Amino acid sequence: MLNHASSKDINTMALVVNQPGAEFRLTPIIFNEPRDDEFLIEMMFSGICHTDILMQQGLFGDVCDYPAVFGHEGAGIVRGIGKNVRDKSIQIGDPVLLSFYTCGHCSSCENGQPARCWNFIECNFGAKRYHDKSVHARLPNGQPVSAGFFGHSSFAKFSVVAEQSVTRYPGEDIENMGLYAAGGCGFQTGAGAILNILKPTPTQSLVIFGLGGVGFTALMAAKILGLGTIIVVDIVDSKLELAKELGATDTINSSIADPVAEVMKITGRGASFAIDCSGVPSVIELLIDCIHPFGTAGSIGDAPAGVKIKIDALKFMVEGKTFIGLVEGDSVPQDFLPELVTLHKAGKFPIDRLVTVYPVSEMNRAVQDMEKGKVSPSVII
Ligand SMILES: [Zn+2]
Ligand SMILES: [Zn+2]
Repeated sequence: MLNHASSKDINTMALVVNQPGAEFRLTPIIFNEPRDDEFLIEMMFSGICHTDILMQQGLFGDVCDYPAVFGHEGAGIVRGIGKNVRDKSIQIGDPVLLSFYTCGHCSSCENGQPARCWNFIECNFGAKRYHDKSVHARLPNGQPVSAGFFGHSSFAKFSVVAEQSVTRYPGEDIENMGLYAAGGCGFQTGAGAILNILKPTPTQSLVIFGLGGVGFTALMAAKILGLGTIIVVDIVDSKLELAKELGATDTINSSIADPVAEVMKITGRGASFAIDCSGVPSVIELLIDCIHPFGTAGSIGDAPAGVKIKIDALKFMVEGKTFIGLVEGDSVPQDFLPELVTLHKAGKFPIDRLVTVYPVSEMNRAVQDMEKGKVSPSVII
């Protein structure tokens, strides 16, 4: 049973991808009524993450059935509440930010570390309910639609959302939520990698490869911690210039210069930390060469499924280096997203320099602009 006034079926519009490689097409779909542990959310905004594009292109293999609705950085309003949701403080009409979905039963979930869910890929990329593999929606002709991407498929006007994905937005300024929508993935991933996982000290140094929403928010977090050396690497000069304004101490255009040689010139023996936010395998391979002995390299960007990277095994061992995967900034979204909103409102997390908001009718243009170098597009749903 659900506490809202509509009939059982929820008719809405969504950006459906019919098959791998097909365009995002605005299409009518029908959601089944939310279950007892789910919310009905009216989406106001959604960020567009590189992962959505990889899914649209089918580059994660057969992890998800098509037709499917992607989008995993939603911001919206609560329109229905299942009777058994655990957070009873969330009310109809509340603004919420949406993030990833978890199994709730693995050892990480039971330890309160949801971003480390052992079933993260299946829960989030499968776009179905984890426990019974049921789908959330169908086309008017009855064909099933995978519409539980990251527990919330935010490229839909209304969506049935897993309770794990929901965080109450700490404010009433709904019109500004487009700025924070990308908090649910990109911004918490970048900022959390630095603030929650790597935790560098001011005398340490950091190299960031790839300036998108993740790379820029990692930079902002490093600035918050007062790092003396923050080196950014990209191939787009305008992004490097913006990074300089936002606190990067050194910039490297890797289409012109060898980034490893440049990092050595700046740091002497390499940086304390190097992270990749691009997902480009040949870039990930550079990370370990950019750090000094006993330094840490971290991989954040999504590489296409199945791609392997090479490392110099002997050097890696003798120099005691660490290479780790950094997922969703190890965030507990219900705690971390409100912190990021507070940091932004205090002027310490200038994400307004990154976000461009598009109407939903211009979704495909937003994607093209992103590929041309726009940082964090957000669509009005
Ligand atoms: Zn889990
Ligand atoms: Zn994402």
